[in-house]
Amino acid sequence: MQLNDIDKGSRRIRLFVECGLREGKLVEVGADSANYLFSVMRLARGSVVHLFNGRDGEWSAEISDLGKRRAVLACIENLRDQSYPPDLWLAFAPLRKTRTDFVVEKAAELGVDRIVPVLCAHSNARRISRKRLRQRAVEAVEQCGGLHVPSVQDLATLEDFLVGELGDRKLVFCDESMSGSDAGFPSDCEAERCCILVGPEGGFSDYERRILREFPGSIPVSLGPRILRAETATVVAIALWQRFYGDW
Ligand code: SAH
Repeated sequence: MQLNDIDKGSRRIRLFVECGLREGKLVEVGADSANYLFSVMRLARGSVVHLFNGRDGEWSAEISDLGKRRAVLACIENLRDQSYPPDLWLAFAPLRKTRTDFVVEKAAELGVDRIVPVLCAHSNARRISRKRLRQRAVEAVEQCGGLHVPSVQDLATLEDFLVGELGDRKLVFCDESMSGSDAGFPSDCEAERCCILVGPEGGFSDYERRILREFPGSIPVSLGPRILRAETATVVAIALWQRFYGDW
């Protein structure tokens, strides 16, 4: 590979960092990012990559020091102003590890502000690693050109989530028992501050379905005539919401 090709490629590399970004700022990144730049992408001093932190937009930055364990980058120029996805949350019952990773990755790509794992009666995963899921979200946003990494909340029971966290936010309740009914995805309701809720592989229990239907602000929806896997339902519901109310 020619040096030019490396430099061309390096312009597309995006790294999420926690610190503030401004012209001339020196940003030190830790072993994971340094190893990625050095060993995986085989960059060298002088290569230019992009940095973002979820607050200060996107910046070009030149690598001024690079080793396997540490890299230092100097911010050059602000390339894009900070932007945020719509005020959409995703609440979902965690699945097995790689499927949960998939849900978080797709939610970050499709554009949500907050991801809330909720424990349901039929959940077959009862623990999550918030750190791991946050990292999946960071990687997805680095890849897709987004500027905002959704927050990942602690696992909460469905009831605690409804009573304690949801507030007066509308709840788009994906109810598999309505599949095939006329209650398609609503295209005409006031649903700006919204949370999509997708249940576990085993579906919602009768008790959960009852409290969800009675919950103020709940909008039970069908996602079509077939029962979808939970991770498919998540992608479909976010896509439909973005189409009707979001920033697509
Ligand atoms: N095992 C259950 C299906 C669970 S599907 C059964 O056989 O009935 C997992 C989750 O995806 C559901 O809880 C629901 O939130 C969502 N979902 C899947 N298909 C759906 C559909 N057609 N309409 C609405 N929600 C759906």
